[in-house]
Amino acid sequence: MNVTQEEIAVFRNEVRAFVRDHLPEPIREKSRLGVALTGEESKTWMAQLRDRGWLAPHWPQRWGGTGWPAWKRAVFQDELVLGHAPEVGGLTFEMIGPLLARFGTPEQQEHFLPRMMSLEHVWCQGYSEPESGSDLASLKTRAVRERAADGTEHYVVNGSKIWTSGAHHANWIFCLVRTNPEARTPQEGISFLLIDMATPGITLRPIIGIHGWHLFNQVFLDDVKVPLDMRVGEENQGWTIAKSLLEFERLNLARVAENRRRLAKVRSIGDTVQEAGVLLRDRPWFKRRHTKLEVRLETLAATVLSFRQRAEAGERLGPETGMLKLVGSQLIQEIETLTVDALGPQTLPFDAQGLVDLPQANDTQIVERHPYATTASSRRFMTRGFTIAGGSSEIQHELLAKQVLGL
Ligand SMILES: Cc1cc2nc3c(=O)[nH]c(=O)nc-3n(C[C@H](O)[C@H](O)[C@H](O)COP(=O)(O)OP(=O)(O)OC[C@H]3O[C@@H](n4cnc5c(N)ncnc54)[C@H](O)[C@@H]3O)c2cc1C
Repeated sequence: MNVTQEEIAVFRNEVRAFVRDHLPEPIREKSRLGVALTGEESKTWMAQLRDRGWLAPHWPQRWGGTGWPAWKRAVFQDELVLGHAPEVGGLTFEMIGPLLARFGTPEQQEHFLPRMMSLEHVWCQGYSEPESGSDLASLKTRAVRERAADGTEHYVVNGSKIWTSGAHHANWIFCLVRTNPEARTPQEGISFLLIDMATPGITLRPIIGIHGWHLFNQVFLDDVKVPLDMRVGEENQGWTIAKSLLEFERLNLARVAENRRRLAKVRSIGDTVQEAGVLLRDRPWFKRRHTKLEVRLETLAATVLSFRQRAEAGERLGPETGMLKLVGSQLIQEIETLTVDALGPQTLPFDAQGLVDLPQANDTQIVERHPYATTASSRRFMTRGFTIAGGSSEIQHELLAKQVLGL
């Protein structure tokens, strides 16, 4: 890396000052405690970053990216986490934006990319179906060409997508659909469509997760008309595009910054919570688990950086990116499990006030909940999904074994 320590320090200070001066205090506090932000709060912070030109650092500069080298992006991420700034990006900036910048037609790029930057368009991902998850190529949502009275052609889409995160906040969805059921292989009959969520025939069914949050939806598409120019890439070539999108996804699913934030939370619990009169940070079981996680996280961070540098140098990243997702998602689960173990019964979703009349209520550790305790259980359940979304751990193991290790 051809950069001096002084350059790193100057840039670090610039980002730190920006976060300190522009992140509203209520948002910082929510983010520090791991409480979900409202859509409006997320937008407020994203608008601050956008106005500074830092909303999508990894995008091509032509579309509002920064052109930063990998080290600047790493420092930037670090400082956002250290300043308790919310994670930004999501499907819009991490997936469909870079995808359209690479595979979209000039018209699609001109239309969609500025609207993502202006925060007008929010996207969701319509890949999974009730009977197609890991085996995504078996998807059945069908798109058939139809000619309108004025002679123009469009697709008519019928089917259903499931586990569609954030569809209730999104105004566009990118979908994989079957355009040729007779193709030689299931992969060869799939196309990639961009669909306006306001199109007649689209309905949503909310799905409440085990964590109690409304994250998922089932999306029903009934005779939904989609103009042909909303297809990305050639007809029946959608699988190749979707696969490259998974590459973007897996690089980001290492979740280094998010892991760092959560581990910092565990550290602060260790510094403040006692077990039998001894601070957790001095308890061997806690020290051992915390240190192991820290070492694994820093190893992952170094590996992600080297992958990013390779990608920057023009190298196409192959199936080995699966290891980043695999390790990042496992770490995050273990960190949240340690949080719950460290805070103990306080993390149970009980009515603490109801205990006041019981004799054991004298144990103030139970009645007075640690600020991190209220969200600890739901966040732990939430992270169960991280080893499933974007390709489950079992699938990652299989791919790594076959395609990387040649087993
Ligand atoms: C938090 C979260 C967010 C998501 N967001 C979205 C979204 O926005 N859009 C979207 O399209 N989808 C989304 N998904 C869906 C996700 O992509 C699928 O859940 C995932 O691909 C697994 O598919 P499935 O749920 O159908 O499980 P299945 O494929 O039915 O798998 C069930 C189990 O069998 C195992 N298994 C399956 N096949 C094999 C195999 N060949 N070898 C070994 N083990 C195997 C799996 O690992 C898993 O443990 C999300 C999921 C989660 C958890």
